[in-house]
Amino acid sequence: MRITLLGTGTSHGVPTLDCMITDYATCPVKVCRKAQDNPRHRRTRASILVQSGEAHILIDTSQDFRHQMLINRITHIDAVLYTHGHADHIYGLPDIRSYCRRQNDSISIYGLEETLRILDGAFDYVFHPTEYVGGGIPTLTPYLLDDGCQMNGLTIEAIPVVHGPLMGCQGYRLNDVAYIPDVKHIPPESLARLRNLDLLILNCLRLRPHQGHLSLEESLDYAHRIAPQRCLFTHLAHDIDYEVETRRLPDWIEFAYDGQSVEVP
Ligand SMILES: [Zn+2]
Ligand SMILES: [Zn+2]
Repeated sequence: MRITLLGTGTSHGVPTLDCMITDYATCPVKVCRKAQDNPRHRRTRASILVQSGEAHILIDTSQDFRHQMLINRITHIDAVLYTHGHADHIYGLPDIRSYCRRQNDSISIYGLEETLRILDGAFDYVFHPTEYVGGGIPTLTPYLLDDGCQMNGLTIEAIPVVHGPLMGCQGYRLNDVAYIPDVKHIPPESLARLRNLDLLILNCLRLRPHQGHLSLEESLDYAHRIAPQRCLFTHLAHDIDYEVETRRLPDWIEFAYDGQSVEVP
C-alpha cells in the first residue's frame, strides 16, 4: 500500500495570500516567506491518494486538485472518499471530469449524507444536468458511507470525528492506515476503531488552540493515545515551521509535506 500526501496545508494553503499581500508582515514565524526558497514549506490544500494493487482511492478533492494530479502524475482514480463539505476539501471536484472521460465510466464518490448534500448543492450542474454543459461535466455516482465497506480489496471504515459545531465530519481507516485531516475531538467509539495502526495521518493545525482543529499539543496527546507505528501531522498552517517544531516530536512522528510518499507493508 502506498500513500501519497498530495496536499498538507490548511484551508488557506501556505504561503497564504494574506501574508503575500502584507509582504509577510502578518506571517507569525515567516514560514510563508521561507516557502519561496524551501518547497517543504509550500503546502497545498489537504488530500491524499491511497494506492493498493491496481486501486487508486483519493480522499477529498482539494481546491488544488488539478495541480496535485499534474505534479504527481496521477493517471487513474477509482473512487473518492469525502471527509466533509468544507471548501478546501471539495472544490477540485469539477476536474474529476478528465478521469471520467479517460476511463469512460462514472466514478464513485462516498461520504456522509450531509457531505453528499453539500456536494449536490455546490455542484448542481454536475448532479442535475438538464442539458449539455460546455466543456463537459464529471459523471459521478454518490454513495452514503458512514460505517464501513470493502473496496478494491481494502477494508474501509468511517471514523466519525468532531471538527466544528456546524458540520458532520469523518476520517477514514483503510486497512491499517488512518487519515483524519480535520478534527477537534475524537470520540471514544472512534478512538476504539484506531487500534493497531501502521500509519496515522492526523490533523495538526498550529501552535495556538483553534475551535475546529487540533493544536500541536493536542495532536501530540492524541498521537500518544492512539499509538500507531508511525504518525504524520497534516493540514498545517503557516505557524508550523517544521525545521523548528520537529524538535518537539518523538522519532515516530513527523510533519508531512506535499508530495511525500509512504509505503505501508
Ligand atoms: Zn480542511
Ligand atoms: Zn474543515
